[in-house]
Amino acid sequence: MNHFELREGQLCCEAVPLARIAADVGTPVYVYSTATLERHYRVFGQALHAHPALGEPLIAYAVKANSNVSVLATLGRLGAGADTVSEGEIRRAMAAGIPPGRIVFSGVGKTAAEIAFAIDVGVAQINVESEPELRLIDAVAAGRGAKPTLCIRVNPDVGAGGHAKISTGRSASKFGVPMTQAPALYAWAAARPHLRMAGLACHIGSQITGLEPLEEAFGRMRGLALRLRAEGQVVERLDLGGGLGVPYFNQPDPPDPAAFAAMAARVVGGLAVELAFEPGRVIAANAGVLLASVIHVNARPGGVTFVVLDAAMNDLIRPAMYEAYHDIRPVAPRTGDAVACDVVGPVCESADVFTQARPLAPLHAGDLVAFMTAGAYGAVMSSEYNSRRLAPEVLVNGQDFAVVRGRPSYEDMLARETPAPWLAPAHLAAAT
Ligand SMILES: *Cc1c(COP(=O)(O)O)cnc(C)c1O
Repeated sequence: MNHFELREGQLCCEAVPLARIAADVGTPVYVYSTATLERHYRVFGQALHAHPALGEPLIAYAVKANSNVSVLATLGRLGAGADTVSEGEIRRAMAAGIPPGRIVFSGVGKTAAEIAFAIDVGVAQINVESEPELRLIDAVAAGRGAKPTLCIRVNPDVGAGGHAKISTGRSASKFGVPMTQAPALYAWAAARPHLRMAGLACHIGSQITGLEPLEEAFGRMRGLALRLRAEGQVVERLDLGGGLGVPYFNQPDPPDPAAFAAMAARVVGGLAVELAFEPGRVIAANAGVLLASVIHVNARPGGVTFVVLDAAMNDLIRPAMYEAYHDIRPVAPRTGDAVACDVVGPVCESADVFTQARPLAPLHAGDLVAFMTAGAYGAVMSSEYNSRRLAPEVLVNGQDFAVVRGRPSYEDMLARETPAPWLAPAHLAAAT
């Protein structure tokens, strides 16, 4: 459920008409709903809390899904932790008031500097993705006289996820330590004086729409935890990752959090471990839309009708990168027979197509449309390709809204560059 609804025919975010935000802030613009973020977090948390066998799990929201500091703070004040994959994300989580003791540091390519930073601020846990990384963490920890808490991220060799590009759990993927290698690595790490081995982690993919692969993976994690214990190791944490899918309108309905929690309780309940979950998409996706304006409607005689928007692949890359489907809704009522449209952006790439032959009520220049389910993997993946300014982000809360990341000016964009000193100022004058 989300809080983007028609009120008197106008598409609103909570009590704020999207048209008002467009008039105030301009388009394209991302709009997020506080009530939806809070609801999704609570539904997920309550589903887990319904099972005493799961204890008091850490819900470490996956920052990469939507890393706006106000979004993080909205979740953080409900008790969310953060799953992070870079120093930048750790800094964002901390800027949002999430204590380091609830921050997990994941990712296949952590640099020595990032590891040192994570150790110094005291993150709850570093998830180790490979043997060379474990050796690097050991060296950095020893150099600082520290003893960070680690989990080994294992690759349970279970494929899952809505698209090959978001599947991470197969043995051929770059993520995690193979199951067969994990026991030896665990034993090595547990014997190192500067490392504290806490347990295991996994994350098998994103936009997972069935429980079976997750159940398979969790079962393997349980088996590995029991095996390690039988070998005399301490295993007190199990981080089960994220990946739960969301309905993108035309796709199979993913399992609801209650069914997910019941499955988790069945498979890993009673293991006497602290559990962690890392939901991203399921919290943020339906809590955001990308609002855009129609620049032209270009109906080729006898051919395709192109709806050209002021939003492009640089603002929302999911359709180009993952063939993702986003529902596109007019903000004001539009009547008339639906027309099959190709909805495109202005960027000079053939991939800058949001959808093809989509039946839409007739649209006209100046109309506003909303890409639904754009709150996750939307703004975070945006770029300035074609020297287009980043779309701003707006957070709605009931009747109020705030611009939580402004649209940069062209001056801001140019000011980030420093002309090479050997280029004659005369040649640059025209540009600045
Ligand atoms: C991306 C990611 C997540 C979140 O995935 P969702 O599909 O958005 O829930 C969780 N954990 C790790 C390690 C990730 O890389």
